[in-house]
Amino acid sequence: MPHVITQACCADASCVHACPVNCIHPTPDEHDFGTADMLYIDPVSCVDCGACVGACPVGAIVPHTELAPEQEDFLRINAELTGDTRPPRPQARVATLVRLGPTRTTLRVAVVGAGPAALYAADALLRQDGVQVTVFDRLPVPHGLARHGVAPDHVATRAVADLFTAIENEPGFDYRLGVDVGRDVTADELAAHHHAVIYATGAGTDKPLPIPGTDLTGSTSATEVVAWYNGHPDHVDAHVPLDHERAVIVGNGNVALDVARILVTDPEQFADTSIAPHALAALRTSAVREVVVLGRRGPQHAAFTLPELVGLAARSDINLRVDAPDGIDVDSATDTQTRLKLEYLADLAARPAPVPGEDRRRIVLRFQTSPVEVVGTDRAEGLRVVRTRIDDDDPDARGTRTVPVPNTEEVLEAGLVLSSVGYRGVPVPGVPFDPDSATIPSSEGRVLDAPGGSEVPGHYVVGWIKRGPRGFIGSNKTCARETVNSLLADANAGTLPSPRPASEFDALLRGRRPGLIDGAAWRRARPRKEGAAAV
Ligand code: NAP
Repeated sequence: MPHVITQACCADASCVHACPVNCIHPTPDEHDFGTADMLYIDPVSCVDCGACVGACPVGAIVPHTELAPEQEDFLRINAELTGDTRPPRPQARVATLVRLGPTRTTLRVAVVGAGPAALYAADALLRQDGVQVTVFDRLPVPHGLARHGVAPDHVATRAVADLFTAIENEPGFDYRLGVDVGRDVTADELAAHHHAVIYATGAGTDKPLPIPGTDLTGSTSATEVVAWYNGHPDHVDAHVPLDHERAVIVGNGNVALDVARILVTDPEQFADTSIAPHALAALRTSAVREVVVLGRRGPQHAAFTLPELVGLAARSDINLRVDAPDGIDVDSATDTQTRLKLEYLADLAARPAPVPGEDRRRIVLRFQTSPVEVVGTDRAEGLRVVRTRIDDDDPDARGTRTVPVPNTEEVLEAGLVLSSVGYRGVPVPGVPFDPDSATIPSSEGRVLDAPGGSEVPGHYVVGWIKRGPRGFIGSNKTCARETVNSLLADANAGTLPSPRPASEFDALLRGRRPGLIDGAAWRRARPRKEGAAAV
């Protein structure tokens, strides 16, 4: 009875560490770890001990006899992905944490940002004796995108909050919530009062969509809608018009799929979830019947991941359609993950057209279609789009630059046009920033004064602001271990700066932000069952 990894896989690889027989891949030190859509269990090597089940923070691992009907295909998917790795890989060399040597003073580390990368970094630090971690966030609530980015119907993923609660309870952990580093306190002041500062500020804005008309009412970003339905304090008043039967989303990553799914799901299914009440009320009166998700390239380049596609395809209440103008060439796949994705898409494309009177709401995954202009006078009334083909004459670095096909423009009528073309990091005043990659330049988690430049002593970086907006919540665990290992090695080498007294800093901070929420206040205020809470 093998165990099976299912849709919610967060790639934090705790299961890899727990598995006694190395049957879970890719491991963090295997070359395909960073590009895998999910981890998988070799059904032949699995000894059915269940150690991975207890280790997984999001309940993604299930004995195969207990798979729900919509999860059953993951048994085949785990087995097929394993095919890539037979014969069995050698025993994984999972990176271990550097041990902090004996110190006379407590190592005081500030972490800026309270999302998954920050908490995984805090956890790695607090495994050492003699470390205190203070996590700062400008919002009055922690957990970043794990709170304000995960769709409310992804209940298993939201359960990662329970892991974060456990980290918050570790001795040596503290919060300073409601403190904006760069505004309430400068980066220099923070650095002067800690041995080390780790920046974990994520990617706080969207990449712009460079077409005319995006400033029209009804044209916004998918991430704004995500923040709106998740109750992000800065986005509760977002204007999300749902009065037209069609919405269009540009870009086909997992964010686009999340938003499309939320817009076409019967809102009563969210009644007992973490969804914000204002969003639930708006969805209850929504006129949206169809969401068109546009990919500028072909199906083989779809940005959404295999588990998310499998989960959506299993939804009997959603009419999922695929529109691929040049067809779907399953044989073009060069790896199992892409082949499985293309097989799913081909299967969906071959589904019969809906019968008249079909009342399920639709998601259309439309490929080879680029946005040209948001059209409308007072508000968005549609999106002008054009068919594309891959330009073989002028390839970009990926070899997949698209060019428009002449005379194929059309307007997709819609009342809501969302751009979902990726997140982008924002600079923290006083901290190095590379505008090209929208990240803090770094080497093995050590901040550099410029890309390829010199190290800034005592400054570290983790998460999306270190490696760009890619990967899953759990990907931050591996990323955090690398950064923390660099910090601990520097502490052992004696190269961290000596900080000014902690009491001095606390007085300064509380003087400027008397309403800040510290760890004790957060522990009193947080909902008892974080994973299910709308905060
Ligand atoms: P993403 O995966 O990077 O997808 C961005 C999409 O935008 C791609 O389809 C890209 O097409 C397209 N795009 C970029 N510039 C464009 C332009 N100028 N015109 C048209 N299309 C354009 O971004 P994301 O969806 O924001 O996700 C970010 C990360 O979060 C991903 O790693 C994702 O897996 C993760 N995430 C995971 C989950 C989950 O596991 N459920 C949920 C949400 C987010 P090209 O490929 O052609 O550039």
